[in-house]
Amino acid sequence: MATTTSQTTHAASVPGDQFEVHDAATLAQARALLDACQTPAEMAQAVVSAVKRNEAWRGEQCLNLLAPEAPTSPTVRALLSAEIGTRAAEGHIGAVNRWFAGTQYIDEVEALCVELLKQAFHARYADHRLVASMVGNLAVYTALTQPGDLIMSLAQPIGGHSSNRPDGPAGVRGLHVVDVPFDPVELTVDLERFATVARAVRPNLVTLGASMTLFPFPIAEMAGIVGEWGGRVYFDGAHQLGLVAGGQFQAPLREGAAVMTGSAGKTFSGPQSGILVWDDPALTEPLTHAVFPVLAATHQVNRVAALAVSAAEMIAFGQTYMARIVANAQALGAALAERGVTMLGAHKGYTRTHQVIADVRQFGGGLEVAHRLARANIITNKNLIPSDQPEDWDRPGGLRIGTTEVTRLGMDEADMATIADFIARVLVEGVAPERVVDDVVAFRHPFQTVYYCFEAEMPPAE
Ligand SMILES: *Cc1c(COP(=O)(O)O)cnc(C)c1O
Repeated sequence: MATTTSQTTHAASVPGDQFEVHDAATLAQARALLDACQTPAEMAQAVVSAVKRNEAWRGEQCLNLLAPEAPTSPTVRALLSAEIGTRAAEGHIGAVNRWFAGTQYIDEVEALCVELLKQAFHARYADHRLVASMVGNLAVYTALTQPGDLIMSLAQPIGGHSSNRPDGPAGVRGLHVVDVPFDPVELTVDLERFATVARAVRPNLVTLGASMTLFPFPIAEMAGIVGEWGGRVYFDGAHQLGLVAGGQFQAPLREGAAVMTGSAGKTFSGPQSGILVWDDPALTEPLTHAVFPVLAATHQVNRVAALAVSAAEMIAFGQTYMARIVANAQALGAALAERGVTMLGAHKGYTRTHQVIADVRQFGGGLEVAHRLARANIITNKNLIPSDQPEDWDRPGGLRIGTTEVTRLGMDEADMATIADFIARVLVEGVAPERVVDDVVAFRHPFQTVYYCFEAEMPPAE
C-alpha cells in the first residue's frame, strides 16, 4: 500500500491505523521532528544533521565489521556528488546509441568504466549500468531463463541470498527453485548429492555465490555436470567481487561460470551498485538487452565515474588489499575462537574470504548479540547458520563479521586480536557494552585514513 503525504498536512494525514511496514515509533519520531520545524529549510536541516551524526559515529567512532560494507576513497566519494550525476544518458555507449544529444564526455566516462571493469576482472565484457546487484541478478534471470524454468540455488540458512530464491528476482521471473545441496560441516557444496539432484531435475541455470561465504565453490565440477544437458552456472559474487578482482578467491569465469554479477560496494570497495561480467559473445545480446531497455534507463553517471575509479584502485592495490582482508579475517576468527566464541569452519582455518561466522546461540542469539555489540560501537549483523530451523529466521543463531573496512583503515592481525578482546569482553565476560565503548572509540581514533587508493597507497608499516 502506498502512502502519500501532502506537504502542508503531513502530521494530520497519517492516521494511526494505517498499515506501515516501517517501525511506527521511528516514523512518529520523524513526524514530531518535522512538526517542531518552523520552515521547510529547517526540515532539510534535520536531514543533513542526521547524516552528520551518522558520519561522526559510524564514520569515525565505530568498528564497522559489517561484511557488505567498505569505505570508499576520497575521489570515489567526491565523484558521487559530481555534476555529471545530474545528466541523463540512457542507452548504450556512443552518440548514435543514445536518445539524448550532448553525451560525448559521458560516453568517455562510461567507456573508461567498461574498459577498466574488463581489466579488473580479466573479462571480455562488462556492464556498468546496474544501480544495484539485485538488478544484475534480475538481468541474468531475464536474459538466461524463461518463466517456468527450473534453477538451483543455495538456501538462506547456508548463506543463499533472497535475490536467487523464490522471494526475490528469481521468484519474480517465475522460476522454480531447487536447493543446491550443501555440507553444513565442511561449508561447501555437497558435490555428490548435487550431481544426483541436478541430473534428476536438469536445471537450465545453477546459481552459486552466497552472502555467507567462507570457502570456495566447486564451480568447474558443477559446470561440468550441468553442461551434460546444456545448463549453465551463474556466479553471484556480490560479496566476493573484490576478492575475485584481487586474485584472492576463485576466478568464477575461468572455472566455468557463464556470467558473474556482484555488488560494487562490498569487498570491491566502490560505490554501492552492481557489476555484470561475462566472456561468451553469444551472451552479449541477451544480457545487455536485459540491462537496457529492460532494467536500467538513466543509470547515475556520477556513480559510473566513481565505479571506474574504484576499478582502477582495484587494479593498482587489489592484490595487497584483498590479501590483507583475508589474513585479517583468519586472524580474527582464530582470536575469537581462542577467547571462547564458537566459530564456523574452525577446522578449515575459519575462512578464505573477508568474513567469519560466529555461532552465538550461547550468548543469546544473533539479533540480541548484534544489538548488544552495537552499544559498544561494534557493528555486525545477525546471520542464519546451517543449524537454524525455519522458526529461527527472525532470531538466527549466527553473527557475521567482516574485515573489509577495518583493513582499508590500515588495521593488521595484531589489531584483530584487540577487536576480539572487545567482543569477548561483551560476550564471554559479560561486561556491559557501555563500559567497553570508550575503549573502542579510543582504539578506533587513530584509524581515520582510507588506504589502498591513490591518495594514500599503503598503511605505514608497524
Ligand atoms: C548483497 C547481495 C546481493 C544484493 O546486492 P545489492 O548490491 O545490495 O543489491 C545479491 N546477492 C548476494 C549473494 C548478496 O550478498
